[in-house]
Amino acid sequence: MPLSPSLLPIRMLNEYVYCPRLFFLEHVEGRWEENEYTIQGSAVHRRVDKLDHVLPDAENDTVTDNVSIQDSQGDEPPVISRSVPLSSEILGLSAKLDLVSSDGREAVPVETKRGKVPKNPERSHEPERVQLMAQGLLLREHGYECDHGVLYFAASRTRVEVPFTAELEAATRDFIVRAHAASLTTVLPPPLDDSPKCIGCSLNGICLPDETLALQAVVTNEQQTRRLFPLRVHATPFYVQEHGATVGKSSETLVVRKEGVELGRASLKDVSQLVLCGNVMVTAQAMHLLCEKNIPVVHSTMGNWFYGVTAGFGLRNSFDRAAQFEMASNEIRCLGFAKGLVEAKALNQRTMLRRNGDGTEEPLDSLARLTKRVQSVESIEGLLGLEGAMAATYFGAFGSMLRSQHVDTTFDFTKRNRRPPTDPVNTLLSFTYSLLAKEFTVALYTEGLDPWWGFYHRPKHGKPSLALDLMEPYRPLIADSAVITAINTGMIRGSDFTRSKAGCMLKDTGRKAIIKAFEARLDHLITHPEFGYRCSWRSALRVQVRLLARFLRHDIPDYKHIVTR
Ligand code: SF4
Repeated sequence: MPLSPSLLPIRMLNEYVYCPRLFFLEHVEGRWEENEYTIQGSAVHRRVDKLDHVLPDAENDTVTDNVSIQDSQGDEPPVISRSVPLSSEILGLSAKLDLVSSDGREAVPVETKRGKVPKNPERSHEPERVQLMAQGLLLREHGYECDHGVLYFAASRTRVEVPFTAELEAATRDFIVRAHAASLTTVLPPPLDDSPKCIGCSLNGICLPDETLALQAVVTNEQQTRRLFPLRVHATPFYVQEHGATVGKSSETLVVRKEGVELGRASLKDVSQLVLCGNVMVTAQAMHLLCEKNIPVVHSTMGNWFYGVTAGFGLRNSFDRAAQFEMASNEIRCLGFAKGLVEAKALNQRTMLRRNGDGTEEPLDSLARLTKRVQSVESIEGLLGLEGAMAATYFGAFGSMLRSQHVDTTFDFTKRNRRPPTDPVNTLLSFTYSLLAKEFTVALYTEGLDPWWGFYHRPKHGKPSLALDLMEPYRPLIADSAVITAINTGMIRGSDFTRSKAGCMLKDTGRKAIIKAFEARLDHLITHPEFGYRCSWRSALRVQVRLLARFLRHDIPDYKHIVTR
Protein backbone atom coordinates (compact mmCIF):
# COMPACT_ATOMS: atom_id res chain seq x y z
CA MET A 1 0.00 0.00 0.00
CA PRO A 2 1.61 3.35 -0.97
CA LEU A 3 1.61 5.50 2.14
CA SER A 4 1.28 9.24 2.26
CA PRO A 5 4.34 11.06 3.68
CA SER A 6 1.92 12.87 6.02
CA LEU A 7 1.17 9.59 7.75
CA LEU A 8 3.27 8.97 10.82
CA PRO A 9 4.51 5.38 11.24
CA ILE A 10 3.34 4.17 14.66
CA ARG A 11 6.86 2.89 15.35
CA MET A 12 7.96 6.53 15.23
CA LEU A 13 5.25 7.47 17.71
CA ASN A 14 6.92 5.04 20.10
CA GLU A 15 10.26 6.80 19.46
CA TYR A 16 8.69 10.21 20.08
CA VAL A 17 7.34 9.14 23.45
CA TYR A 18 10.72 7.58 24.30
CA CYS A 19 12.66 10.73 23.35
CA PRO A 20 11.66 13.59 21.02
CA ARG A 21 15.31 14.03 19.96
CA LEU A 22 15.47 10.37 18.91
CA PHE A 23 12.27 10.89 16.91
CA PHE A 24 13.78 13.92 15.17
CA LEU A 25 17.05 12.19 14.30
CA GLU A 26 15.33 9.08 13.04
CA HIS A 27 12.12 10.31 11.49
CA VAL A 28 12.98 13.83 10.34
CA GLU A 29 16.65 13.36 9.41
CA GLY A 30 16.48 9.70 8.41
CA ARG A 31 19.33 8.52 10.63
CA TRP A 32 19.71 4.92 11.67
CA GLU A 33 22.31 2.89 13.48
CA GLU A 34 22.11 -0.67 14.68
CA ASN A 35 23.11 -1.66 18.18
CA GLU A 36 22.77 -4.94 20.05
CA TYR A 37 19.21 -4.08 21.09
CA THR A 38 17.95 -3.19 17.61
CA ILE A 39 19.58 -6.33 16.20
CA GLN A 40 17.98 -8.47 18.93
CA GLY A 41 14.64 -6.73 18.34
CA SER A 42 14.68 -7.53 14.62
CA ALA A 43 15.66 -11.13 15.33
CA VAL A 44 12.84 -11.54 17.85
CA HIS A 45 10.30 -10.14 15.41
CA ARG A 46 11.47 -12.55 12.74
CA ARG A 47 11.34 -15.47 15.19
CA VAL A 48 8.01 -14.63 16.79
CA ASP A 49 6.39 -14.32 13.38
CA LYS A 50 6.82 -18.07 13.19
CA LEU A 51 5.59 -18.90 16.72
CA ASP A 52 2.12 -20.15 17.46
CA HIS A 53 2.09 -19.83 21.25
CA VAL A 54 1.73 -16.06 21.22
CA LEU A 55 -2.05 -16.40 21.32
CA PRO A 56 -3.81 -18.28 24.11
CA ASP A 57 -5.97 -20.56 22.00
CA ALA A 58 -3.42 -21.48 19.37
CA GLU A 59 -1.66 -24.36 21.08
CA ASN A 60 -4.00 -27.09 19.77
CA ASP A 61 -4.23 -25.82 16.27
CA THR A 62 -2.16 -25.02 13.28
CA VAL A 63 -2.03 -21.30 12.74
CA THR A 64 -1.38 -19.86 9.33
CA ASP A 65 -1.37 -16.28 8.17
CA ASN A 66 -4.78 -14.76 7.61
CA VAL A 67 -6.53 -18.11 7.93
CA SER A 68 -9.48 -18.91 10.15
CA ILE A 69 -9.08 -22.24 11.98
CA GLN A 70 -11.77 -24.41 13.54
CA ASP A 71 -11.12 -25.56 17.10
CA SER A 72 -12.09 -29.02 18.42
CA GLN A 73 -15.56 -27.84 19.53
CA GLY A 74 -16.33 -26.49 16.08
CA ASP A 75 -16.69 -22.88 17.35
CA GLU A 76 -15.32 -20.11 15.22
CA PRO A 77 -11.87 -19.27 16.67
CA PRO A 78 -10.14 -15.92 16.22
CA VAL A 79 -8.51 -15.14 12.94
CA ILE A 80 -4.78 -14.67 13.34
CA SER A 81 -3.27 -12.12 10.96
CA ARG A 82 0.38 -11.18 10.89
CA SER A 83 2.25 -8.17 9.50
CA VAL A 84 -1.01 -6.34 8.93
CA PRO A 85 -0.58 -3.01 7.05
CA LEU A 86 -3.11 -0.39 8.19
CA SER A 87 -3.33 3.35 7.79
CA SER A 88 -5.73 6.18 8.46
CA GLU A 89 -5.72 9.68 7.03
CA ILE A 90 -8.01 10.77 9.87
CA LEU A 91 -5.56 9.64 12.54
CA GLY A 92 -2.53 10.50 10.41
CA LEU A 93 -1.02 7.11 11.19
CA SER A 94 0.29 4.09 9.37
CA ALA A 95 1.61 0.82 10.71
CA LYS A 96 2.40 -2.77 10.01
CA LEU A 97 0.92 -4.55 13.01
CA ASP A 98 2.91 -7.55 14.25
CA LEU A 99 -0.17 -9.62 14.88
CA VAL A 100 -3.92 -9.10 15.15
CA SER A 101 -6.32 -11.58 16.68
CA SER A 102 -9.83 -10.86 15.44
CA ASP A 103 -13.13 -12.50 16.20
CA GLY A 104 -16.02 -11.06 14.30
CA ARG A 105 -15.96 -7.34 15.02
CA GLU A 106 -13.55 -7.65 17.92
CA ALA A 107 -9.83 -7.29 17.38
CA VAL A 108 -6.80 -7.43 19.69
CA PRO A 109 -3.39 -6.11 18.52
CA VAL A 110 -0.39 -8.05 19.82
CA GLU A 111 2.97 -6.26 19.79
CA THR A 112 6.17 -8.20 20.40
CA LYS A 113 9.01 -6.71 22.45
CA ARG A 114 12.47 -8.24 22.71
CA GLY A 115 13.07 -7.70 26.47
CA LYS A 116 11.62 -8.91 29.75
CA VAL A 117 8.48 -7.64 31.42
CA PRO A 118 9.34 -4.33 33.14
CA LYS A 119 9.15 -4.40 36.93
CA ASN A 120 6.87 -1.38 37.26
CA PRO A 121 3.20 -1.46 38.35
CA GLU A 122 1.96 -1.25 34.74
CA ARG A 123 4.33 -4.07 33.66
CA SER A 124 5.10 -2.07 30.53
CA HIS A 125 6.67 1.23 29.48
CA GLU A 126 4.72 4.25 28.30
CA PRO A 127 6.07 4.25 24.69
CA GLU A 128 4.94 0.62 24.32
CA ARG A 129 1.47 1.33 25.71
CA VAL A 130 1.05 4.36 23.43
CA GLN A 131 2.21 2.35 20.43
CA LEU A 132 -0.32 -0.39 21.23
CA MET A 133 -3.13 2.11 21.85
CA ALA A 134 -2.37 3.75 18.49
CA GLN A 135 -2.71 0.33 16.85
CA GLY A 136 -6.05 -0.02 18.64
CA LEU A 137 -7.17 3.35 17.26
CA LEU A 138 -6.22 2.22 13.76
CA LEU A 139 -8.21 -0.99 14.17
CA ARG A 140 -11.20 1.01 15.41
CA GLU A 141 -10.90 3.26 12.35
CA HIS A 142 -11.18 0.12 10.26
CA GLY A 143 -14.45 -0.88 11.92
CA TYR A 144 -13.24 -3.14 14.72
CA GLU A 145 -14.11 -2.97 18.38
CA CYS A 146 -10.88 -2.87 20.28
CA ASP A 147 -10.75 -2.37 24.04
CA HIS A 148 -7.34 -3.81 24.87
CA GLY A 149 -4.07 -4.94 23.36
CA VAL A 150 -1.33 -7.37 24.32
CA LEU A 151 2.40 -6.82 24.74
CA TYR A 152 4.38 -10.01 24.33
CA PHE A 153 7.81 -9.86 26.02
CA ALA A 154 9.95 -12.39 24.21
CA ALA A 155 12.79 -12.61 26.77
CA SER A 156 10.40 -13.63 29.55
CA ARG A 157 7.82 -15.22 27.22
CA THR A 158 5.10 -13.28 28.92
CA ARG A 159 1.93 -11.60 27.69
CA VAL A 160 0.84 -8.38 29.35
CA GLU A 161 -2.66 -7.17 28.67
CA VAL A 162 -2.97 -3.40 28.22
CA PRO A 163 -6.51 -2.04 28.70
CA PHE A 164 -7.34 0.84 26.37
CA THR A 165 -8.53 3.29 29.01
CA ALA A 166 -9.86 6.77 28.30
CA GLU A 167 -6.66 8.23 29.83
CA LEU A 168 -4.41 6.15 27.59
CA GLU A 169 -6.46 7.07 24.54
CA ALA A 170 -6.33 10.80 25.39
CA ALA A 171 -2.57 10.66 26.01
CA THR A 172 -2.04 8.77 22.75
CA ARG A 173 -4.07 11.26 20.71
CA ASP A 174 -2.08 14.08 22.31
CA PHE A 175 1.23 12.37 21.43
CA ILE A 176 0.07 11.90 17.83
CA VAL A 177 -0.61 15.64 17.49
CA ARG A 178 2.71 16.55 19.09
CA ALA A 179 4.70 14.09 17.01
CA HIS A 180 3.15 15.44 13.80
CA ALA A 181 4.07 18.98 14.85
CA ALA A 182 7.60 17.83 15.73
CA SER A 183 8.04 16.25 12.30
CA LEU A 184 7.59 19.70 10.74
CA THR A 185 10.09 21.58 12.89
CA THR A 186 13.68 22.24 11.89
CA VAL A 187 15.03 22.50 15.43
CA LEU A 188 16.68 19.52 17.05
CA PRO A 189 15.02 18.93 20.46
CA PRO A 190 17.38 19.07 23.46
CA PRO A 191 18.99 15.83 24.63
CA LEU A 192 17.83 14.01 27.73
CA ASP A 193 19.96 14.96 30.74
CA ASP A 194 21.88 12.07 32.29
CA SER A 195 19.12 9.67 31.29
CA PRO A 196 19.58 5.89 31.47
CA LYS A 197 17.52 5.76 28.26
CA CYS A 198 20.56 7.10 26.37
CA ILE A 199 22.68 4.08 27.29
CA GLY A 200 20.56 1.71 25.21
CA CYS A 201 19.71 4.22 22.48
CA SER A 202 21.16 3.13 19.14
CA LEU A 203 21.63 6.76 18.08
CA ASN A 204 23.60 7.87 21.15
CA GLY A 205 26.82 8.17 19.11
CA ILE A 206 25.02 10.48 16.67
CA CYS A 207 22.98 12.39 19.24
CA LEU A 208 25.95 12.95 21.60
CA PRO A 209 23.69 13.90 24.53
CA ASP A 210 26.35 14.43 27.19
CA GLU A 211 28.78 16.16 24.85
CA THR A 212 26.01 18.53 23.72
CA LEU A 213 25.00 19.37 27.28
CA ALA A 214 28.64 19.87 28.28
CA LEU A 215 29.23 22.27 25.37
CA GLN A 216 25.97 24.07 26.13
CA ALA A 217 27.29 24.40 29.70
CA VAL A 218 24.03 22.89 30.93
CA VAL A 219 25.89 20.44 33.14
CA THR A 220 28.43 21.28 35.81
CA ASN A 221 32.13 20.65 35.30
CA GLU A 222 31.99 17.92 37.93
CA GLN A 223 29.41 15.90 35.99
CA GLN A 224 31.25 13.31 33.96
CA THR A 225 30.64 13.13 30.22
CA ARG A 226 29.65 9.56 29.42
CA ARG A 227 31.12 8.00 26.30
CA LEU A 228 28.02 6.19 25.10
CA PHE A 229 29.43 5.04 21.75
CA PRO A 230 31.95 2.18 21.44
CA LEU A 231 35.62 2.79 22.32
CA ARG A 232 36.65 2.12 18.74
CA VAL A 233 34.62 2.44 15.55
CA HIS A 234 33.80 -1.09 14.52
CA ALA A 235 33.50 -0.48 10.77
CA THR A 236 36.71 0.58 8.99
CA PRO A 237 37.68 1.43 5.38
CA PHE A 238 38.02 -1.51 3.00
CA TYR A 239 40.88 -0.76 0.56
CA VAL A 240 41.07 -2.58 -2.76
CA GLN A 241 44.44 -1.94 -4.39
CA GLU A 242 44.75 -4.82 -6.86
CA HIS A 243 44.94 -3.56 -10.44
CA GLY A 244 42.19 -5.18 -12.55
CA ALA A 245 40.21 -6.57 -9.59
CA THR A 246 36.40 -6.50 -9.39
CA VAL A 247 34.33 -5.97 -6.24
CA GLY A 248 31.09 -7.93 -6.27
CA LYS A 249 28.68 -8.98 -3.57
CA SER A 250 27.43 -12.19 -2.06
CA SER A 251 24.44 -11.55 0.16
CA GLU A 252 25.69 -8.75 2.47
CA THR A 253 29.39 -9.41 1.92
CA LEU A 254 31.74 -7.65 -0.50
CA VAL A 255 33.87 -10.10 -2.47
CA VAL A 256 37.01 -9.08 -4.40
CA ARG A 257 37.95 -11.25 -7.37
CA LYS A 258 40.50 -11.15 -10.15
CA GLU A 259 40.42 -13.55 -13.07
CA GLY A 260 37.99 -15.79 -11.19
CA VAL A 261 40.19 -16.03 -8.09
CA GLU A 262 38.87 -14.62 -4.84
CA LEU A 263 41.34 -12.15 -3.28
CA GLY A 264 39.38 -11.07 -0.23
CA ARG A 265 36.02 -10.36 1.29
CA ALA A 266 34.46 -8.16 3.96
CA SER A 267 31.08 -8.20 5.61
CA LEU A 268 29.23 -4.94 4.97
CA LYS A 269 28.69 -4.35 8.67
CA ASP A 270 32.49 -4.10 9.07
CA VAL A 271 32.96 -1.62 6.21
CA SER A 272 32.74 2.16 6.74
CA GLN A 273 33.81 3.01 3.17
CA LEU A 274 35.01 1.12 0.10
CA VAL A 275 38.25 2.65 -1.18
CA LEU A 276 39.11 1.81 -4.79
CA CYS A 277 42.75 2.51 -5.65
CA GLY A 278 43.41 2.69 -9.38
CA ASN A 279 41.80 0.39 -11.92
CA VAL A 280 39.31 -1.54 -9.77
CA MET A 281 35.72 -2.22 -10.89
CA VAL A 282 32.53 -2.62 -8.88
CA THR A 283 29.52 -4.65 -10.07
CA ALA A 284 26.15 -2.88 -10.36
CA GLN A 285 24.71 -5.16 -7.67
CA ALA A 286 27.48 -4.28 -5.22
CA MET A 287 27.12 -0.57 -6.00
CA HIS A 288 23.37 -0.68 -5.42
CA LEU A 289 23.85 -2.42 -2.09
CA LEU A 290 26.52 0.08 -0.98
CA CYS A 291 24.26 3.01 -1.88
CA GLU A 292 21.33 1.39 -0.10
CA LYS A 293 23.41 0.90 3.05
CA ASN A 294 24.81 4.41 2.77
CA ILE A 295 28.42 3.18 2.56
CA PRO A 296 30.43 5.63 0.41
CA VAL A 297 32.68 4.40 -2.38
CA VAL A 298 35.90 6.40 -2.62
CA HIS A 299 37.72 6.58 -5.96
CA SER A 300 41.43 7.33 -6.01
CA THR A 301 44.47 6.75 -8.16
CA MET A 302 47.16 4.28 -7.16
CA GLY A 303 49.12 7.25 -5.87
CA ASN A 304 46.09 8.06 -3.73
CA TRP A 305 45.08 11.12 -5.71
CA PHE A 306 41.58 11.27 -4.41
CA TYR A 307 39.12 12.17 -7.16
CA GLY A 308 35.58 11.34 -6.13
CA VAL A 309 33.01 9.66 -3.95
CA THR A 310 29.91 7.70 -4.91
CA ALA A 311 27.23 7.81 -2.24
CA GLY A 312 23.55 6.97 -1.78
CA PHE A 313 20.83 9.50 -1.09
CA GLY A 314 21.98 9.86 2.51
CA LEU A 315 20.18 11.86 5.14
CA ARG A 316 17.18 14.15 4.96
CA ASN A 317 19.05 16.96 6.68
CA SER A 318 19.14 19.65 4.01
CA PHE A 319 18.78 22.24 6.80
CA ASP A 320 22.31 21.37 7.93
CA ARG A 321 23.62 22.18 4.46
CA ALA A 322 21.54 25.37 4.33
CA ALA A 323 23.14 26.38 7.65
CA GLN A 324 26.57 25.51 6.22
CA PHE A 325 26.07 27.75 3.16
CA GLU A 326 24.68 30.52 5.34
CA MET A 327 27.81 30.46 7.48
CA ALA A 328 30.06 30.28 4.40
CA SER A 329 28.53 33.56 3.22
CA ASN A 330 29.28 35.27 6.54
CA GLU A 331 32.87 36.55 6.35
CA ILE A 332 33.12 37.38 10.04
CA ARG A 333 31.99 33.92 11.15
CA CYS A 334 34.29 32.31 8.56
CA LEU A 335 37.28 34.27 9.82
CA GLY A 336 36.50 33.37 13.43
CA PHE A 337 36.21 29.71 12.50
CA ALA A 338 39.43 29.80 10.45
CA LYS A 339 41.34 31.40 13.33
CA GLY A 340 40.32 28.50 15.56
CA LEU A 341 41.58 26.01 12.96
CA VAL A 342 44.95 27.69 12.49
CA GLU A 343 45.49 28.20 16.19
CA ALA A 344 44.69 24.55 16.97
CA LYS A 345 46.94 23.36 14.15
CA ALA A 346 49.90 25.45 15.40
CA LEU A 347 49.42 24.27 18.98
CA ASN A 348 49.34 20.66 17.80
CA GLN A 349 52.44 21.18 15.62
CA ARG A 350 54.24 22.55 18.66
CA THR A 351 53.15 19.58 20.75
CA MET A 352 54.48 17.20 18.10
CA LEU A 353 57.87 18.94 18.07
CA ARG A 354 58.03 19.12 21.86
CA ARG A 355 57.25 15.42 22.24
CA ASN A 356 59.26 14.01 19.36
CA GLY A 357 61.92 16.57 18.42
CA ASP A 358 65.50 17.02 19.64
CA GLY A 359 64.60 19.54 22.35
CA THR A 360 65.70 22.68 20.45
CA GLU A 361 63.77 25.58 21.95
CA GLU A 362 63.86 27.99 19.02
CA PRO A 363 61.10 26.44 16.81
CA LEU A 364 58.92 25.89 19.90
CA ASP A 365 59.27 29.54 20.93
CA SER A 366 58.70 30.70 17.38
CA LEU A 367 55.49 28.65 17.04
CA ALA A 368 54.27 29.98 20.39
CA ARG A 369 54.91 33.58 19.25
CA LEU A 370 53.16 33.03 15.91
CA THR A 371 50.17 31.39 17.64
CA LYS A 372 49.66 34.45 19.82
CA ARG A 373 49.20 36.57 16.69
CA VAL A 374 46.31 34.52 15.30
CA GLN A 375 43.46 36.29 17.08
CA SER A 376 44.57 39.74 15.89
CA VAL A 377 44.59 38.81 12.18
CA GLU A 378 41.88 40.67 10.26
CA SER A 379 41.47 38.70 7.04
CA ILE A 380 41.61 35.18 5.63
CA GLU A 381 44.56 36.25 3.45
CA GLY A 382 46.42 37.47 6.56
CA LEU A 383 45.71 34.16 8.23
CA LEU A 384 47.04 32.22 5.23
CA GLY A 385 50.26 34.24 5.46
CA LEU A 386 50.61 33.53 9.16
CA GLU A 387 49.88 29.84 8.61
CA GLY A 388 52.65 29.79 5.98
CA ALA A 389 55.12 31.20 8.53
CA MET A 390 54.05 28.54 11.05
CA ALA A 391 54.50 25.79 8.44
CA ALA A 392 58.00 27.06 7.60
CA THR A 393 58.95 26.92 11.29
CA TYR A 394 57.40 23.51 11.87
CA PHE A 395 58.77 21.82 8.77
CA GLY A 396 62.14 23.48 9.36
CA ALA A 397 62.36 21.34 12.49
CA PHE A 398 60.42 18.33 11.20
CA GLY A 399 63.59 16.35 10.39
CA SER A 400 64.51 16.33 14.09
CA MET A 401 61.60 13.94 14.70
CA LEU A 402 62.95 11.31 12.26
CA ARG A 403 65.12 8.91 14.18
CA SER A 404 66.15 6.64 11.32
CA GLN A 405 68.07 9.30 9.39
CA HIS A 406 71.42 8.16 10.79
CA VAL A 407 70.94 4.71 9.24
CA ASP A 408 69.00 5.62 6.11
CA THR A 409 69.70 8.94 4.41
CA THR A 410 66.64 8.30 2.23
CA PHE A 411 64.67 10.01 4.95
CA ASP A 412 66.66 13.22 5.13
CA PHE A 413 64.20 16.07 5.25
CA THR A 414 64.93 19.74 4.81
CA LYS A 415 61.72 21.39 3.65
CA ARG A 416 58.21 20.65 2.51
CA ASN A 417 57.71 20.22 -1.24
CA ARG A 418 54.81 18.82 -3.26
CA ARG A 419 53.12 18.53 -6.66
CA PRO A 420 54.95 16.27 -7.08
CA PRO A 421 56.92 15.55 -3.92
CA THR A 422 60.58 14.96 -4.72
CA ASP A 423 61.76 12.90 -1.74
CA PRO A 424 60.35 10.02 0.37
CA VAL A 425 59.36 12.05 3.44
CA ASN A 426 57.43 14.57 1.35
CA THR A 427 55.85 11.71 -0.60
CA LEU A 428 54.64 10.16 2.65
CA LEU A 429 53.36 13.48 3.97
CA SER A 430 51.40 14.17 0.77
CA PHE A 431 50.03 10.63 0.79
CA THR A 432 48.80 10.77 4.39
CA TYR A 433 47.31 14.26 3.95
CA SER A 434 45.37 12.84 1.05
CA LEU A 435 44.18 9.95 3.25
CA LEU A 436 43.14 12.42 5.96
CA ALA A 437 41.27 14.58 3.42
CA LYS A 438 39.48 11.45 2.23
CA GLU A 439 38.59 10.56 5.83
CA PHE A 440 37.00 13.94 6.46
CA THR A 441 35.31 14.05 3.06
CA VAL A 442 33.60 10.72 3.72
CA ALA A 443 32.70 11.75 7.28
CA LEU A 444 31.14 14.98 5.98
CA TYR A 445 29.19 13.09 3.33
CA THR A 446 27.98 10.62 5.91
CA GLU A 447 26.90 13.49 8.14
CA GLY A 448 24.99 15.10 5.26
CA LEU A 449 27.24 18.16 4.98
CA ASP A 450 28.81 19.41 1.75
CA PRO A 451 32.57 18.62 1.78
CA TRP A 452 33.18 20.96 -1.18
CA TRP A 453 32.09 24.19 0.48
CA GLY A 454 34.52 25.41 3.12
CA PHE A 455 34.92 28.37 5.45
CA TYR A 456 38.70 28.83 5.32
CA HIS A 457 39.71 27.11 2.10
CA ARG A 458 37.65 28.78 -0.58
CA PRO A 459 35.48 26.58 -2.85
CA LYS A 460 37.49 25.42 -5.86
CA HIS A 461 36.57 22.78 -8.41
CA GLY A 462 37.71 19.33 -7.34
CA LYS A 463 38.85 20.48 -3.88
CA PRO A 464 36.93 19.26 -0.81
CA SER A 465 37.33 22.63 0.92
CA LEU A 466 35.39 21.87 4.10
CA ALA A 467 37.27 18.57 4.54
CA LEU A 468 40.55 20.47 4.07
CA ASP A 469 39.40 23.00 6.68
CA LEU A 470 38.49 20.43 9.30
CA MET A 471 41.62 18.34 8.87
CA GLU A 472 44.02 21.25 9.57
CA PRO A 473 44.41 20.69 13.33
CA TYR A 474 44.87 16.92 12.80
CA ARG A 475 47.56 16.98 10.12
CA PRO A 476 50.33 16.90 12.76
CA LEU A 477 48.58 14.57 15.21
CA ILE A 478 47.43 11.94 12.73
CA ALA A 479 49.10 12.24 9.32
CA ASP A 480 52.55 13.46 10.45
CA SER A 481 52.47 11.10 13.40
CA ALA A 482 51.76 8.12 11.11
CA VAL A 483 54.65 9.13 8.85
CA ILE A 484 57.07 9.54 11.76
CA THR A 485 56.05 6.15 13.23
CA ALA A 486 56.33 4.41 9.86
CA ILE A 487 59.85 5.77 9.31
CA ASN A 488 61.17 5.48 12.86
CA THR A 489 59.97 1.91 13.35
CA GLY A 490 61.23 0.69 9.97
CA MET A 491 57.74 -0.03 8.62
CA ILE A 492 58.86 1.91 5.55
CA ARG A 493 62.32 1.76 4.01
CA GLY A 494 64.16 3.52 1.21
CA SER A 495 63.49 0.54 -1.04
CA ASP A 496 59.73 1.27 -0.86
CA PHE A 497 60.10 4.27 -3.22
CA THR A 498 60.96 4.94 -6.84
CA ARG A 499 62.44 8.24 -7.97
CA SER A 500 62.31 9.79 -11.40
CA LYS A 501 62.09 13.20 -13.02
CA ALA A 502 58.33 12.98 -12.35
CA GLY A 503 59.03 12.92 -8.61
CA CYS A 504 59.29 10.37 -5.86
CA MET A 505 56.61 7.67 -5.71
CA LEU A 506 55.62 4.88 -3.37
CA LYS A 507 55.89 1.28 -4.52
CA ASP A 508 53.07 -1.16 -3.70
CA THR A 509 54.87 -2.30 -0.54
CA GLY A 510 55.35 1.26 0.68
CA ARG A 511 51.78 2.23 -0.09
CA LYS A 512 50.40 -0.72 1.87
CA ALA A 513 52.73 0.02 4.79
CA ILE A 514 51.81 3.68 5.08
CA ILE A 515 48.08 2.92 4.81
CA LYS A 516 48.57 0.43 7.65
CA ALA A 517 50.39 3.04 9.75
CA PHE A 518 47.70 5.63 9.04
CA GLU A 519 44.82 3.30 9.92
CA ALA A 520 46.63 2.21 13.09
CA ARG A 521 46.95 5.86 14.06
CA LEU A 522 43.21 6.35 13.58
CA ASP A 523 42.59 3.36 15.86
CA HIS A 524 44.98 4.71 18.50
CA LEU A 525 43.21 5.54 21.77
CA ILE A 526 43.35 9.04 23.20
CA THR A 527 41.87 10.76 26.22
CA HIS A 528 39.52 13.32 24.74
CA PRO A 529 40.76 16.68 26.05
CA GLU A 530 37.29 18.22 26.11
CA PHE A 531 35.18 15.33 27.38
CA GLY A 532 37.72 13.37 29.38
CA TYR A 533 36.79 9.90 28.10
CA ARG A 534 38.92 7.44 26.17
CA CYS A 535 38.15 6.87 22.49
CA SER A 536 39.99 6.22 19.25
CA TRP A 537 41.08 9.03 16.95
CA ARG A 538 38.60 7.68 14.38
CA SER A 539 35.74 8.12 16.87
CA ALA A 540 37.01 11.53 17.94
CA LEU A 541 37.09 12.80 14.34
CA ARG A 542 33.59 11.50 13.73
CA VAL A 543 32.41 13.34 16.84
CA GLN A 544 34.07 16.52 15.53
CA VAL A 545 32.13 16.33 12.26
CA ARG A 546 28.86 15.73 14.11
CA LEU A 547 29.54 18.60 16.44
CA LEU A 548 30.20 20.83 13.45
CA ALA A 549 26.68 20.10 12.16
CA ARG A 550 25.32 20.92 15.64
CA PHE A 551 27.31 24.14 15.73
CA LEU A 552 26.00 25.18 12.32
CA ARG A 553 22.42 24.61 13.51
CA HIS A 554 23.11 26.51 16.77
CA ASP A 555 22.57 23.40 18.88
CA ILE A 556 25.92 24.19 20.56
CA PRO A 557 27.35 27.70 20.93
CA ASP A 558 30.93 27.03 19.89
CA TYR A 559 32.97 24.60 17.81
CA LYS A 560 36.13 23.47 19.59
CA HIS A 561 39.03 21.65 17.95
CA ILE A 562 40.98 18.91 19.66
CA VAL A 563 44.25 20.26 21.00
CA THR A 564 46.58 17.86 22.80
CA ARG A 565 49.19 18.79 25.34
S1 SF4 B 1 20.92 9.40 23.16
FE1 SF4 B 1 19.36 9.98 24.66
S2 SF4 B 1 18.85 12.09 24.18
FE2 SF4 B 1 19.88 11.23 22.41
S3 SF4 B 1 18.30 10.48 21.06
FE3 SF4 B 1 18.94 8.76 22.32
S4 SF4 B 1 17.58 8.78 24.07
FE4 SF4 B 1 17.40 10.77 23.09
